[in-house]
Amino acid sequence: MTAQLDDTEYDGVPAVFRTDDTEHLLRRKGREMAVRVRELHDARDGGTILLFGAVADGCLVRIHSRCLYGDVLRSDDCDCGPELDHAMDMIQAEGAGVLVYLEQEGRGSGLVAKARGLAHSERTGRDTFTSYGDLGYPADCRSYEPAAAALADLGLTSVRLLTNNPEKVPALHRAGIDVTPIPLITAPRSARARAYLEAKRDRRGHWTPEFQVPPVQEPEPPRPYPAPADPGALCASAADSR
Ligand SMILES: [Zn+2]
Repeated sequence: MTAQLDDTEYDGVPAVFRTDDTEHLLRRKGREMAVRVRELHDARDGGTILLFGAVADGCLVRIHSRCLYGDVLRSDDCDCGPELDHAMDMIQAEGAGVLVYLEQEGRGSGLVAKARGLAHSERTGRDTFTSYGDLGYPADCRSYEPAAAALADLGLTSVRLLTNNPEKVPALHRAGIDVTPIPLITAPRSARARAYLEAKRDRRGHWTPEFQVPPVQEPEPPRPYPAPADPGALCASAADSR
């Protein structure tokens, strides 16, 4: 049986292109919540908006820049993964909130720029912002104006913003949104993550505390998957049994 696409038009827009019918249930950490998905179109600073539960004035909002290493690979070298996780825990605990996930890898310069910056930092010992400058990249070329405009389009006039980055606040103010910042404190999980947090605080004014405690103990490296002692022998025994 072949699924039939709904070719009905609504206000001239074919049903297949509608985005106001995306609500579904998302299960995370053993609990379900309703989520609606919207695209945020912008050539430089676009992404995706996820609306959890009943979004209203004063709700929790996380504006998160994509970090493949932290968000997906769970790298210990930055705080992106734990920040996103913590923000989602808080939204889930309240039962409502907004995640604006922006395609702004490498502070807007892309993953290759980030990788080059990391390599340069490893060679020189310089922080990530200095490395970007050495390589000719802007320290941070992200804009939060499209995200702020999208939040205003949702009808929001006040939010509790989950962030350590003060640069996000003026963009929301300019869109007519009152902001109560809520810092996301996450303990660094490696010496490099701690250095990155300190650089963001010292160079970009992020609201991160001095971490007096040592970073979380580095875990044992994963063991390599054991290879068969003699793969050829396995083939031979399989052939013998035929
Ligand atoms: Zn990151």
